[in-house]
Amino acid sequence: MITVSHLTKRYGDKYALNDVNFDVKKGEILGFLGPNGAGKSTTMNIITGYISYTEGEVKVDGYDIMDNPMEVKKRIGYLPEIPPLYLDMTVWDYLEFVFALKNVKTTDMKEHLQSVIDTVKIDGVKNRKISNLSKGYRQRVGFAGALIGDPDILILDEPTVGLDPKQIIEIRNAIKELGKKKTIIFSSHILSEISSVCDRVIIINKGKIVAEDTPQNLSAKIGDAQRMMIRVSGDKEQAESILESFDSVSNVTCVSSLGDTFDFEFDTKMSNEDKKELFFAFAQNSIPILLQQETEVSLEEIFLKLTSAKEANYESDIQ
Ligand code: ADP
Ligand code: MG
Repeated sequence: MITVSHLTKRYGDKYALNDVNFDVKKGEILGFLGPNGAGKSTTMNIITGYISYTEGEVKVDGYDIMDNPMEVKKRIGYLPEIPPLYLDMTVWDYLEFVFALKNVKTTDMKEHLQSVIDTVKIDGVKNRKISNLSKGYRQRVGFAGALIGDPDILILDEPTVGLDPKQIIEIRNAIKELGKKKTIIFSSHILSEISSVCDRVIIINKGKIVAEDTPQNLSAKIGDAQRMMIRVSGDKEQAESILESFDSVSNVTCVSSLGDTFDFEFDTKMSNEDKKELFFAFAQNSIPILLQQETEVSLEEIFLKLTSAKEANYESDIQ
C-alpha cells in the first residue's frame, strides 16, 4: 500500500532522513518508534505530500507522491503532530469545512460527519468552539478531521502525546478498531504503546531505521530484562561485588555517588526469591539499601542493544 524507497531529506547539510526504506501492507498497523528528532514527522509529512524530499521515491497505492499528489492525498487521512484546527470554529463547522476541503463525494454529509464524531466520541462537544476544548478533545477533533472522507490509509503522528491515561487508552482502542479496516502508520516514542497496538514496528533514530520487526520478535531481541536501580550506603566495591555475585544481575554501573551513598543500575531478571536474597546479602554485609526501584528500559538502551558499533559511529556524521 505504501512503498518508501531510499528516502532522504536534507536541511542544508544536515540529514533529517538518510536512505530510509520500508513498506506498509494493506490492512497493516505499522508503528513508528523513535525519540524526538528521529525523523518520524519528517517521514509522515513526506508521505502525505506536505513537504518535499531530497532523494528517493514514495508510492501510495501505486501512485507516486511527486507525479500524482492528489491521488495520494485522497487516500490518506493525516493527523499531524499539531493538528491545524481553526480555534474560532465550532467542532461541527470545522468538520464541515474539512469535508468541503477534501471534496468528499459522499452524498449525505450530515450522516458522514456524525459517524466520524461517534467514532472518536466527541458528540458531547460538537457545538462547542474548538478554542474552549481541552488538549485531549482538540486531538480527537483532529482525529475526526483525518477520518473524513473515509480514507483507506491513516497516518497519525504521536496521537497520544499530552493526553491523560484514560484518553490515551481511548485513542489506542480507536486505532485498533480502525485498523481492522484500514492501513495505519502510527508514531510514538513509547515502546509499550507501539507494541500493544501495532502488527509491526519500525524503530528510527537520527534519520535511519535501526530495526524493523514484529513486537514479539523485538522484545525477544531487546530481552525481557528489567533495569533496576538501588541506592546503598556503605563500601562501593563491596556493594558492587555483592551485586555481581548474582547470576540474574548484569551490566552493573554506578550512576552516582554522594559521600558513602551510591546509586547502582543493573539489568536483572530477578524473581522475588532473588530479590529477597539480594536484600539479605546486603544486610549481612551491613550495607543498608536506602532505595530500590525498577525503571523502564529507555529508548537509548534499546538502540544500544539493536545498533551495531558501525551504525553508532555513523550517528556522529549526521548530528
Ligand atoms: P521526530 O518527529 O521524530 O521528532 P522530525 O522529523 O520532526 O523528528 O525531525 C527530524 C530532524 O529534522 C530533527 O533533527 C529536526 O531538527 C530536523 N528538522 C525538522 N524540520 C526541520 C526544518 N524545517 N529545518 C531544519 N531542520 C529540521
Ligand atoms: Mg515529530
